[in-house]
Amino acid sequence: MAVQYPIAWHTIDNCLVDVDEAKRGVADYRCPDPDCEKPLIFKRNYKGTKYFTHKVAATCTGETWLHSTAIIIIQENSYIMINGTNCNYTNVRTKQPIGKRIPDAIIDTDKYLDLLIEVVVKSDLTKEKLADLDAHNILRIDLENLKINFKNLNKEKLTNMVLYDTGRISLIPACTYTATPAQTTDELEDYSWIVLLAIPILTYFGLKYYNGHSTEYNQKRTKKLVNHIRRKQYW
Ligand SMILES: [Zn+2]
Repeated sequence: MAVQYPIAWHTIDNCLVDVDEAKRGVADYRCPDPDCEKPLIFKRNYKGTKYFTHKVAATCTGETWLHSTAIIIIQENSYIMINGTNCNYTNVRTKQPIGKRIPDAIIDTDKYLDLLIEVVVKSDLTKEKLADLDAHNILRIDLENLKINFKNLNKEKLTNMVLYDTGRISLIPACTYTATPAQTTDELEDYSWIVLLAIPILTYFGLKYYNGHSTEYNQKRTKKLVNHIRRKQYW
């Protein structure tokens, strides 16, 4: 069965449309997934449930649809909850590379310039990706447990989840991933000279002690031997 979506992209109004606002016979609904963008048609099943579905077979999945719709919601709005504070944001960029990575979006707020946004749907951010983007503050938006169940989802609910749900939005501050290993390496480098210096010093004193000890031992032994011979000669 074709995937049923609760939200579509309206090509004339240039905005997301809720299934409750949709009308029959309108040909301007498209899939929000930029890799698909195929026409969606509005339908209602025998139970009265309304939904959008692809007119023809499509490559998108529920996950890519959700991911793309969440990013459009970020583009359509200007406030997001960061660490419990409702922050105004501007200048949403979606295809700007950061090194070899392209974050889902980059926004500017009063507190954070170039704040990266990553919407997590199918799989979480890898350590490699986080390390690559570690010079920046990252806002992680977790939609993972939504990937299958779109029932009762609408534009308002999804907007609240993406922009205001503090249980889903978390800030990963810059330098979270590279700071610790870098510090350890520095410490190792700082103390390595002590080890290098200690080896010859310990060797020097070790040999000196050994020589002194063995000389003393030999002297005692010789003395004993001489006495022994003397005693023998005396007898
Ligand atoms: Zn599609």
